[in-house]
Amino acid sequence: MIRLQNVSKTYYPTRKSRNATGVEALKPVDLHVPEGQIHGVIGLSGAGKSTLIRCVNLLERPTTGSVSVDGQELTDLSREALNQARHRIGMIFQHFNLLTSRHVFDNVALPLELMGVSRRDIRDRVTPLLELVGLDDKADQYPAQLSGGQKQRVAIARALASRPRVLLCDEATSALDPHTTGAILELLRDINRKLGLTILLITHEMEVVKSICHRVSLISDGELVEAADVGDFFTAP
Ligand code: ADP
Ligand code: ADP
Repeated sequence: MIRLQNVSKTYYPTRKSRNATGVEALKPVDLHVPEGQIHGVIGLSGAGKSTLIRCVNLLERPTTGSVSVDGQELTDLSREALNQARHRIGMIFQHFNLLTSRHVFDNVALPLELMGVSRRDIRDRVTPLLELVGLDDKADQYPAQLSGGQKQRVAIARALASRPRVLLCDEATSALDPHTTGAILELLRDINRKLGLTILLITHEMEVVKSICHRVSLISDGELVEAADVGDFFTAP
């Protein structure tokens, strides 16, 4: 479902300074996440986790390599085709990235508005999503009125609005307390089971990987150094 081949990323100070020395945030990596898998990438701060996950939907353009999602190669698409392809890739973030001036319903509706979906169809799609994440009674509230866990639920509903096949989670529970983290992980597990969504998540927390991932890779200094089933990973000497 997600396939990275030889993907690397070097950050250069400016676009035109390719001759200058850049920061090699990601060394060439290969990663395959089959349909329906919850795959965790764990590593310390600065290891390259954000860079890796942002290369999957091309929020960062890889310096080398190819990225394919749901059988479609993304790196050579036109801007418009890439925007279409991104409908199949949802993403959530550590700090939720909600629009503070829009209430819950309109935050979830936003991607559908941008896709030109009719107001009526938006209502038909957003309402069940709010039920799925357990916020059907909060549709008219603003992000400032919600707890961290509730904000992340809104972000999850928004990420699901375009009916993606893949969900990318960038430190999605790092700003939450352990109890709330547990509840959000349970929701992600539900979404994986009920909707068959493939999930790629990055985290610096072992507990996250232990509790929901089927498979785990370790990233260190921009190198993806191990991939294992979660059971093997935690029992290895
Ligand atoms: P992590 O998510 O594991 O904390 P990142 O992918 O954010 O790691 O960062 C990996 C390395 O790349 C770090 O050294 C970081 O400082 C550097 N880096 C990340 N983004 C940029 C950027 N836009 N420009 C320059 N360096 C960056
Ligand atoms: P997070 O912990 O959520 O990965 P960071 O604070 O590492 O967030 O990075 C926030 C933003 O700054 C990201 O978009 C990242 O790409 C960018 N960034 C990170 N490190 C650097 C850096 N050394 N130089 C420039 N931009 C960076």
